[in-house]
Amino acid sequence: MTIRIPHDKVFYAFSPHLTPAAHARQNEPIIFETNDCFEGQVRKPEDMLGELDWAHINPASGPVYIEDVKPGDILKVEITNIVVDDQAVVVCMPDSGAIGDLIRQTEAVIMPIHAGQAVYKNRVKIPIDPMIGVIGVAPSAEDIATGVPDYHGGNMDCTAIRKGATLYFTAGVEGALLGCGDLHAVMGDGEIIVTGAETNGEVHVKVSVVEMKGLPTPFLEDERMIATLYSAPTIDEASDGAIHRMARFLTEFAGLSINDAGMLMSLVGELKFCQVVDPKRTVRFEFPKQVLADYAYVFGK
Ligand code: CA
Ligand code: CA
Repeated sequence: MTIRIPHDKVFYAFSPHLTPAAHARQNEPIIFETNDCFEGQVRKPEDMLGELDWAHINPASGPVYIEDVKPGDILKVEITNIVVDDQAVVVCMPDSGAIGDLIRQTEAVIMPIHAGQAVYKNRVKIPIDPMIGVIGVAPSAEDIATGVPDYHGGNMDCTAIRKGATLYFTAGVEGALLGCGDLHAVMGDGEIIVTGAETNGEVHVKVSVVEMKGLPTPFLEDERMIATLYSAPTIDEASDGAIHRMARFLTEFAGLSINDAGMLMSLVGELKFCQVVDPKRTVRFEFPKQVLADYAYVFGK
């Protein structure tokens, strides 16, 4: 049976104290109906000029209690589909994002989406590439606002979190309490002004527990690569965290020597910014699966 989480089942902090919106068995398909980061408050350009209710920002849908998950388990979340609305909104505001110092006027641009393209001001047609901004599990002993990325996932705003990708988290509590929201029809790496093409939609996932104790999470896998994701107060710390975690993964899981890991990370690894604008910055380090195959290592097997 498919579990469907309606869009009004939302929360604003990943917390061990959340009440589950639903329970799901492992591998049971789950569909999260999600709200955009403004919880639908900006549907027309002039909506932004009014006072936004800032208590209703960055909602995540859920959480879902996954049966037979214990604290410390590695949760595998396969993103089987992402559906987006027929419009999105991008917003810039003074003092917000990486060039907030230059922006003098708030502006919201509604972008219609059709035939796989988001149209910016009737001028620029952008092929959509839907991604999830906020996805994570409850920490074991603290509340983390849905706007903040950290070790539990959260607002990582990573363009690689798209259909076909698989995320790995470490459960902090029984049932893990998985939630997600903040879809972007498209976003550039960095998310320079703190918004992508913000949109309502649906996230379809399948969740299970895998035997990969010690995996440095959050961790991402797609057809082409694996990636470590790390969030920290500065880009320097976030980069350092993502890089060191990949080195640890390559030596502890794939069996490479540290010298081989380092040289190959230098040759074919890719350090990329997810976002540079949230309360913590998120960086990822990508490494090609093809090279793992050269070492006869198959991820997840
Ligand atoms: Ca976000
Ligand atoms: Ca967003």
